[in-house]
Amino acid sequence: MQAIATADIHLDALDHNFKLVKQLAPDSKVLALLKANAYGHGALTVAKHLAADAYGVARIDEAMSLREAGIFTDIVLMEGFFSALELPLIFEQNLQVVVHSEFQLQALEALSLKQKSTLKVWLKIDTGMHRLGIEPEQFNEFYQRLVDCPVVDDEIIVISHLSCSDELDNDETTRQIQLFEDTCQQGEFERSLANSGAILAWPQCHYQWVRPGVMLYGVNPLYSARKDSAGLQPVMTLHSSLIAVKPIRAGDSVGYGATYTAERDTRIGVVAIGYGDGYPRHAKAGTPVLVNGQRVSLVGRVSMDMITVDLGPDSSAKVGDYVELWGKHLAIEEVAEQAETIAYELLCNITARVKIDVLSN
Ligand SMILES: *Cc1c(COP(=O)(O)O)cnc(C)c1O
Repeated sequence: MQAIATADIHLDALDHNFKLVKQLAPDSKVLALLKANAYGHGALTVAKHLAADAYGVARIDEAMSLREAGIFTDIVLMEGFFSALELPLIFEQNLQVVVHSEFQLQALEALSLKQKSTLKVWLKIDTGMHRLGIEPEQFNEFYQRLVDCPVVDDEIIVISHLSCSDELDNDETTRQIQLFEDTCQQGEFERSLANSGAILAWPQCHYQWVRPGVMLYGVNPLYSARKDSAGLQPVMTLHSSLIAVKPIRAGDSVGYGATYTAERDTRIGVVAIGYGDGYPRHAKAGTPVLVNGQRVSLVGRVSMDMITVDLGPDSSAKVGDYVELWGKHLAIEEVAEQAETIAYELLCNITARVKIDVLSN
């Protein structure tokens, strides 16, 4: 009996996607993004399995859990520290930080020389995202002040972030790359710009470090333009099973709000998964679901613990049958489009109720 919503994590797919990153960017080191619990896949599972050159997280707690579990690979806080109070822990745990603002630089300048080790810094320039990062005009000054900071490691890495790398015909990426190059023309430092979209589509900006996130997990960020997998393999398969099959008549409606009314006599399958598991409540009628490997359509509203699908009048599907919501045989990108969101959000939204099964193949 497997009525419970389960996310299988396929480690062989993770290996495959990591290899693809290495093939696409053969001369770059890899900073693998493990934020948000490795996009819902389990940060520790992924960290233990991959042999990346460094890991990236968003919050100090995410870094701490990895350290506490015995991960001693380099870890970068992608938003740096939020308060100077975090600095002692950052030194103690040997974490690396992105510096993107004056307040962070001042906090480092104010630190005493008593630290035993130096801090590795990734200096972030804002080349057009207008979220984090110093202005390009501030670059030389910031770089020099960091070099002059006794607590900071002399080898500073210079980074920026692309806003449109998943859009092939958007000139913004070319503009950002140019500004990045113009800003750090001279200088003997390592550079990093490419997220998954740029690893796949903008080889001119791979530099010394690439920063894959979603593609490691088998999601193609260019999917809406290309409708293919880009050779990636889904790492997560989300599945559950049928807990009821109910014959209904033409004219009967299904679910909360009675938003769906059957046009013919048919059989409704009830699947044990809902928004309480992270299945998107906004998935539209018609969103594909695989029952015993056959595509059927979601009908009616997504409930907390259940969804309903139209099995068709002649279906022989029965209670206990296997249902895939996304993964090996159904692209999560397709489900995301039907829910008017992105695969990133679906993956991050998997809740603690979902059982995680780590599979080596
Ligand atoms: C999350 C993140 C990435 C990875 O982005 P993907 O689109 O998932 O590849 C890269 N760089 C930074 C700074 C990030 O925060």
